[in-house]
Amino acid sequence: MACSHSTSCELYPLLAMEPALKLWKQHYCEGGYEKCARYRLALNGKAVPLTLLPNGKQLAPRSKKEINAAALFNAIQKGRLPLIRSMFKTGVAQTEATTSDGTTPLMAAASVGNAEIINLLLQHNANPFRKNRVGETALSIATRFEHHECVAVLKRKLATSEPADYTEVKVDDEEEARSSIVGFLKKLNPFKSHADAES
Ligand code: SF4
Repeated sequence: MACSHSTSCELYPLLAMEPALKLWKQHYCEGGYEKCARYRLALNGKAVPLTLLPNGKQLAPRSKKEINAAALFNAIQKGRLPLIRSMFKTGVAQTEATTSDGTTPLMAAASVGNAEIINLLLQHNANPFRKNRVGETALSIATRFEHHECVAVLKRKLATSEPADYTEVKVDDEEEARSSIVGFLKKLNPFKSHADAES
């Protein structure tokens, strides 16, 4: 049985969208969620920080930029348009952040079929020409999922812009923009709790 907190858990969208974290999702969210430190805290009515990992380890926010990228993907997955607007107003959203498979926020919005968020990201210079690691653009993703409104928005933008209108993202910048949570979880063994690891 899957974890009943997945709709409210801030970490879940990252585990669900990030291929490199599939094992974490299977081990906790779709398996032993009762062992998840986040689940147990929420069950007791306590606030659960984004930086608390399922195995009980607390992630030190190494880079605000990386944590912000994770928060943006999370907000997109949950369709929180006003939150994303305020992230742009305070300068914390990055349209060119990516997950390990090269998914950008624009592609994430295309996959969940949210045309309003796509519009907002495009207004903030999200590059519609970018491709993920299997060569898909936001438009091909929206087309694959049959999100017709998103397809129309993206086609309009592509028809009125050129790849040269966008700054090319260097690989180093791309790596830096990735979530530290993803990088951290990838290094840990999901089958070992923090308590086990320290004993
Ligand atoms: S990380 Fe934990 S609380 Fe969140 S959805 Fe997975 S099992 Fe549930």
